[in-house]
Amino acid sequence: MQLFNDYSFESKRAILRVDFNVPIDKESLEIQDDKRIQAALPTIKFILNGGGSVVLLSHFGRPKNGPDPRASLRIVLNRLTALLDRPVHFAETLEEANNAVQGLQSGEVLLVENVRFFPGETEGSIELAQNFARLGDCYINDAFGSAHRAHASTTQLASFFPKDKMMGLLMQEETRNAQHILSNPKRPFTAILGGAKVSDKIMIIENLLTIASDIVIGGGMAYTFSKALGGAIGNSLVEDERLASVKQILDKAKTLEVKIHLPEDTVAAVGFSADAKNEVFPTFAIPDTWMGLDIGPKAREQFTEVILQSNTILWNGPMGVFEWDAFSQGTKHIAHAVAEATKLGAFSLIGGGDSAAAVSKFNLSDQVSYVSTGGGALLELFEGKELPGIKALR
Ligand code: AMP
Repeated sequence: MQLFNDYSFESKRAILRVDFNVPIDKESLEIQDDKRIQAALPTIKFILNGGGSVVLLSHFGRPKNGPDPRASLRIVLNRLTALLDRPVHFAETLEEANNAVQGLQSGEVLLVENVRFFPGETEGSIELAQNFARLGDCYINDAFGSAHRAHASTTQLASFFPKDKMMGLLMQEETRNAQHILSNPKRPFTAILGGAKVSDKIMIIENLLTIASDIVIGGGMAYTFSKALGGAIGNSLVEDERLASVKQILDKAKTLEVKIHLPEDTVAAVGFSADAKNEVFPTFAIPDTWMGLDIGPKAREQFTEVILQSNTILWNGPMGVFEWDAFSQGTKHIAHAVAEATKLGAFSLIGGGDSAAAVSKFNLSDQVSYVSTGGGALLELFEGKELPGIKALR
């Protein structure tokens, strides 16, 4: 694979696929967190400093029926201009983009409108990819968060550049950190998994059984595990169709001597709301009408103990409904425990999405080893898959 750092960008027009899919306030459309824009800056600046110009492609939100002002990249244009401290041109259509690149000088940047506004992006249209390819002389993919998708602006676009294609600096950093754990984790290696759905995490758990020493299970998925072991879980979230796979996982873990830690107790509520009356019960004995919304105080200590004796930590998914204060204590304690273990010398990798939002909410982002910008992409790497967006760069 062509190495980004060795490539000469002098007088080249670089097509750079980034992930500017930042969270925005649904009412005011203001950017809530610009980490993803910040994360792309080193790659953009490297190209500009090397004498090149940059054509930026990104997706933004999930527009269903073509252009939608609420998913327009114009929303990020001002922030990008401020962060780069130079004007950024904007092209709404392919025609505008084609015209703009003709006059694009070294040191200049063009941002093209949301790739998902163009028909064929998510279907991986070759024709659209070819149109994107005409915009530059080389292709760099720095959108780790989209690397698990085979879309026109990722895999297909790469195919138009037999040699002049490469990973950007962020993509390199993301894969290096994941490989650090995947190839040779310093043990004990604890994987902490939470979030709502077991089905999303079955494959990652199966793959982790071959590399982790401990797997900590929290969040809504803990109740499917509890039920599989004969626990009473009341009204808690459960995926009955996954009970058989969960039992298999528990058996396999025993054979492989991987410890699976389920929360001893649970903060359960009488309904799914921020101010619902709540009480602590053993996770295996939740009364009929109650639903588990967070791990309990004993589980916080139980999990903290496991985390503190770890040398490698991977965390994906909150321990409870951390968006609501009454059910955020479990996630908060785990975030602090991961930060503490990192201080003691452990390597900690936080999966994107909700876990990244959680460490940020508790102001601990700079106290862990690495916070990934990818949610689904990171999960797929840990499922043992090769990401199509990365494969296409070879
Ligand atoms: P996921 O996308 O599967 O990682 O799930 C993240 C979501 O799971 C967050 O929005 C949490 O609020 C939610 N969550 C965590 N624990 C629970 C629970 N016990 N019951 C319902 N939802 C939960």
